[in-house]
Amino acid sequence: MKALVVNCGSSSVKYTLFELENEKKMAWGLIECIGLPEAFYKRQTINSEEKKEAVKVANHTEAVELIIKGLLDKNKAMISDVSEIAVIGHRIVHGGDKFSKSVLVTDKVKEELKECFSIAPLHTPAHYAGILAVEKMLPGIPSVLVFDTAFHQTMPDYAYMYALPYEFYEKDHIRRYGFHGTSHNYVSQRAAVLLRKPLSELKLITAHLGNGSSITAIENGKVIDTSMGFTPLQGVVMGTRCGDIDPAIIAYLIGQYPHYKDAKTLNDLMNKKSGLAGVSGLSADMRDILKAVSEGNKKAQLAFNMLVYSIKKYISAYYGILNGVDALIFTAGIGENSAPVRESICKNLSVLGIEIDVEKNKERSSEERFISTNSSKVKVLVIPTNEELMIARESRKVLENNK
Ligand code: ADP
Repeated sequence: MKALVVNCGSSSVKYTLFELENEKKMAWGLIECIGLPEAFYKRQTINSEEKKEAVKVANHTEAVELIIKGLLDKNKAMISDVSEIAVIGHRIVHGGDKFSKSVLVTDKVKEELKECFSIAPLHTPAHYAGILAVEKMLPGIPSVLVFDTAFHQTMPDYAYMYALPYEFYEKDHIRRYGFHGTSHNYVSQRAAVLLRKPLSELKLITAHLGNGSSITAIENGKVIDTSMGFTPLQGVVMGTRCGDIDPAIIAYLIGQYPHYKDAKTLNDLMNKKSGLAGVSGLSADMRDILKAVSEGNKKAQLAFNMLVYSIKKYISAYYGILNGVDALIFTAGIGENSAPVRESICKNLSVLGIEIDVEKNKERSSEERFISTNSSKVKVLVIPTNEELMIARESRKVLENNK
């Protein structure tokens, strides 16, 4: 029995086919630049090399159709019959406050998802198109929606509310939602296994550090707080996003510059032109920043220091909120791969009982591992995230619960 995980982004579709018995990845790939002349299709299977080709796809529906046809291609023998696919898991970026857990797709669920269009206008219509395209290509096979926001729905109201007039919460659903929930959920579950303790007895801080980054405080398996907010802009300094700023800066820019009058320009400024890229003037990629730092580039050093400092602030705050922490977990592109970032974050946090072993931290590995000293009160771990596998597991669970 197989699970097909589908992730429709604003201009891309990614997919992974899992064999559910052994959780092995059988086939995976993506179509990017949908609707553009440079659209391409990259795919790979467990027994074939990566292939990349230019394709013409006008929309998400066509992209999903192409992918499914590819998987069913008799010559590749990835799936000999459609009935081998037990479930399709769709990654959904934003479930608003309608969805606090993964759900089986029904007509009612599709209607409720439509109500989330305005809250994530770049992503939700793409997800919706993906769901319909899969239904058309694989009729009768159940689909499950797995939300990035769902894991964070356990936050208490005083953590998720913004101190704006209450009507904005009631009318516009403006509140903190949090993102990367599937990743925070996955690494917290893995941490419990590695720490040999049930999640219900653990206090954890998970740091998902990629192009977009978020920090989450988890107690007894439940999210208490998370750094991203109403959108994935809030929180720590990121590749191209500014993270926390004084919101009055926006009003100031609108007053000062005629150019910054509309929502799109301001959103572009804060989401696409800020963060590491904006401060360094160089790159959003941590590898470029580290290289420039080693060459003595002052702005790159400043951008690096700001990113590290902002993460330290969240870790310190969440340590206090949780009243102590058992483990700090690093994951995603930067969290899994960048020893200098991890070392700088953990440096001078010994007051919290966080001590990393500098040598262990430097060892390159794609394995789950401890990087704290033996005497560190707080264990520090690196756990590669696996959002696709988590979606496949969730989809299987929902399917079994609905039998
Ligand atoms: P996304 O949020 O798009 O999923 P990723 O989790 O793939 O992003 O993370 C991308 C980030 O990871 C980039 O800033 C990249 O520079 C960083 N990264 C990847 N490998 C390394 C490495 N070896 N050293 C430092 N940073 C790295």
